[in-house]
Amino acid sequence: MTDTGTETIEGTRDFIRDRIRADLASGKHKTVVTRFPPEPNGYLHIGHAKSICLNFGIAREFDGRCHLRFDDTNPAKESQEFIDSIQDSVRWLGFDWGGHLYYASDNFEQLYRWAETLIADDKAYVDDLSADEIREYRGTLTEPGRNSPYRDRDVEENLDLFRRMRAGEFPDGARVLRAKIDMESGNINLRDPVLYRIVRSAHPRTGDKWCIYPTYDYAHGQTDAIEGITHSLCTLEFEDHRPLYDWFIENLPVPSAPHQYEFSRLNLTHTVLSKRRLTQLVTQGHVAGWDDPRMPTLAGLRRRGVPPESIRDFVGQLAISKSDSTVEMAMFDHCVRELLNRTAERRMAVLRPLKIVIENYPEGQVEELEAANHPGDPARGTRRVPFSRELFIERDDFMEDPPKKFFRLAPGAEVRLRFAYFVTCREAVKNTAGEVVELRCTYDPETRGGDAPDGRKVRGTIHWVSAAHAVPAEARLYDHLFAREDPGAEGDFLDDLNPASVEVVKDCLVEPSLATPPGAPVQFERLGYFVADPDSAPGRPAYNRTIGLRDSWAKAQAKG
Ligand code: ATP
Ligand code: MG
Repeated sequence: MTDTGTETIEGTRDFIRDRIRADLASGKHKTVVTRFPPEPNGYLHIGHAKSICLNFGIAREFDGRCHLRFDDTNPAKESQEFIDSIQDSVRWLGFDWGGHLYYASDNFEQLYRWAETLIADDKAYVDDLSADEIREYRGTLTEPGRNSPYRDRDVEENLDLFRRMRAGEFPDGARVLRAKIDMESGNINLRDPVLYRIVRSAHPRTGDKWCIYPTYDYAHGQTDAIEGITHSLCTLEFEDHRPLYDWFIENLPVPSAPHQYEFSRLNLTHTVLSKRRLTQLVTQGHVAGWDDPRMPTLAGLRRRGVPPESIRDFVGQLAISKSDSTVEMAMFDHCVRELLNRTAERRMAVLRPLKIVIENYPEGQVEELEAANHPGDPARGTRRVPFSRELFIERDDFMEDPPKKFFRLAPGAEVRLRFAYFVTCREAVKNTAGEVVELRCTYDPETRGGDAPDGRKVRGTIHWVSAAHAVPAEARLYDHLFAREDPGAEGDFLDDLNPASVEVVKDCLVEPSLATPPGAPVQFERLGYFVADPDSAPGRPAYNRTIGLRDSWAKAQAKG
């Protein structure tokens, strides 16, 4: 399904921005304040980018501000590594929280005091039921819940027990604090939700100070209120939690009254965007780490060479709506390709080299040929590429017995070597196994630069490198991490991993200018966009293929 946003002269339109326009126009709010609230229990992925671009984008468009807030209420799964990587990824994506970096844990004391307020108002109680019993008493969508036998404890007893929970007098899981709302509510979230659990787990920020931790539902809205968030934007799965969000805001002396709005999350084909599954891929070693270039994480995409601007382009085209949909990975690839086509410099590299010897080219002679850095942008200048008697071309660019429309090299055929000369293949030299190991060719000295003075045409142009000057390199060719469009739709998602998601090509040869890896992705002519990997060995760069050149998305769009 395609998911397209709408742009008008007043800027991007969607129900959230319309709401904000109305709230600013009516004077309900003077400035808009949003937040991006990741839980530091994993790396950010491209789904998060939708939320980041929405929250930070709105702050930018309406001259408001956006906070980066760590929703760090579940220490068992959280870590400093995740806190650091999240900040890194948000910045890399092009956003800045200024001085507005917050942690839900900064409010633990206030949240605790408000919990006591609820108890004092007889709106919360300590429950001794086990987690299983609580689940059982909760009822189902069709059956009302039942009151816990501990629900009618008096205020004094509840206060005493809650203080002793905090003081560490009870084992993990022995008791919880619950809101006293309505066990018969049609909305299960209102059936006396849990506010605090006893968990002895060191917290990345508060250490061992606490052994009770607030739940997401209890912490989130109050943290929004403390920070003065006006529009609290989250994904649709929280829609049914909104009445609870509002209940807390109405029943506590919070300093402001934020409102929650929900939008549909981003789903992408051929990958998974659930942190639980991504964690599993990493911890079970199905990928090399959170920043493996096949991962949909921002760190992975970055390492694969995807420019942050293309992620913003992609996300900008997604509808902010209330209907769930799955976006084709090909649409994302298209955005990356579009941007790189405009911005990436061109270079020559040969992935699977086949040697050619130009018999009539003087031995020992080297010419420096001028090669354009970008065909569409002369301002990007040129570079010099050495040409000599012995070259390497792509093995695929030669066929001994070619079909009709093969316009590359074959015995007797003439092609253009990019930026260089016309060459004709005279003979294919074979080894004892019958494999072609070398081509003997001749060149036409009159065709320097790629045109024949006699007007003779060739159909094919192929890339090459000079044998004596080329630099050995490794190339890593990536494909979808999952072979299925919808991993896990039938059975275990791990069974849908694509066994060919990476191919490492060891003995590539790249033009000399690529010996020092450029910081940005380049196009290897005719092969795709590549970026040097940070783990390149000295003198032997490793290049990750960001994306190939073939655009199946654009083709499908053209066909309608
Ligand atoms: P989990 O709750 O399973 O740990 P999460 O993906 O919800 O994972 P959070 O750290 O809570 O992770 O997410 C931070 C913010 O990003 C939330 O507001 C969430 O709604 C939003 N978000 C997460 N995944 C997506 C997605 N696929 N599309 C859009 N927004 C998302
Ligand atoms: Mg979440």
